[in-house]
Amino acid sequence: MIAPIAIRGKPNSIVAATRFLFVIVVSDISNLTHFMEVSSRCAYDRTIPEKIYIYRHIELGSKALPILGDCILDKPKVVSYLCFIELKENTMSVLSAPYMHDEAAAFAHVESIIWADGTVCPHCGVCDRAYKLEGVRTKPSKKNPEGKERHGLWKCRDCRGQFTVRKGTIFEESHLPMHLWLQAIHLMVSSKKGISSHQLHRVLGITYKSAWFLTHRIRECMRDGALAGFGGNGGIVEVDETFIGKEPGVKKAKNARGGDHKMKMLTRVDRETKKARSIVVDNLKKTTLIPILQENIAKEAYVMTDEARQYQGIGAGKVFDAHGWTNHSAGQYVDYDDSEIHTNTVEGFYSIFKRGMKGVYQHCGKQHLHRYAAEFDFRYNNRTANGVDDVERGQIALRGVVGKRLTYARPSI
Ligand SMILES: [Zn+2]
Repeated sequence: MIAPIAIRGKPNSIVAATRFLFVIVVSDISNLTHFMEVSSRCAYDRTIPEKIYIYRHIELGSKALPILGDCILDKPKVVSYLCFIELKENTMSVLSAPYMHDEAAAFAHVESIIWADGTVCPHCGVCDRAYKLEGVRTKPSKKNPEGKERHGLWKCRDCRGQFTVRKGTIFEESHLPMHLWLQAIHLMVSSKKGISSHQLHRVLGITYKSAWFLTHRIRECMRDGALAGFGGNGGIVEVDETFIGKEPGVKKAKNARGGDHKMKMLTRVDRETKKARSIVVDNLKKTTLIPILQENIAKEAYVMTDEARQYQGIGAGKVFDAHGWTNHSAGQYVDYDDSEIHTNTVEGFYSIFKRGMKGVYQHCGKQHLHRYAAEFDFRYNNRTANGVDDVERGQIALRGVVGKRLTYARPSI
């Protein structure tokens, strides 16, 4: 039972709300259904009301008291009711949400995320001057004698142009239904080590070729352009590099050690913001790595690396204000005197990346590696430990769909 003490608020106002508790002051109990609707609609929409407690609540001058029968002689000014709604987490499967199955609901879901501030006409750029066209159908065909319904169709009052939310996004010119896109996005953002195009092809019932382009487009919307800003305010940034797959055109030398014949990736992790960013690099020479680090990490950062020669002499204000390193080849993974000096966070990132690349994707061409890196960065940066759950991760990915078209004919993919 929750004690209804020291809570004040105007009638019909929500005075406190947490993820699992709503406290509402209502002047009339019949208003309660309205507030229950509000509580299930707003940010708490994945919770459902479970228990409701109602108390009479009397305002006595400046004092607000829950009615307990000990103020009979006082003259009440306002009588209202305090309602406590205890919320229970909704255990309904995400996959049974309407937008995962129904095309109209899928369009409404995408529109609510991309046009959160109102519709934007892609033809003339005017905001909030469009109206929805309901019941429009395509031309009749043999397959669909009555034509197919065109969902999510809008018309601009200014330029009279028609458009859907697909325009100018990764969904443009795709014939796949929107709800399948949403299913694919959910599967990709919720699988920690990724999901292969072959598996999506089987699960979604689409061709492998469609699934392949779909996954690459989704990876593209996970890509975040902002690269700089690591290690601001003297924060710790861990830097490390890894080898993966095979560098095209380079043969493995006999008795070769190291990873010259493999593709190389450089990753940095900001220990404060808990975010990672990876870049595919052609080689690990000092002249290649240091300019990349300089460009993407603040000078005042405290940079942590391993003992690799490329990183020697980058501290003490030369490239960065401070540099700490451990000697992995000597079996030292944390500095013996200062436990802050290590690169174990970035090693942890690589452990997930490699499990995914080897266990799920198995092979990756160099021309695509940057997109796989973006995928693992995205999931790592929006992980549960950073306060993002699977559904929110899908919404963040959806916000990235704008302006990232990948076309079949582009030679760079
Ligand atoms: Zn327009």
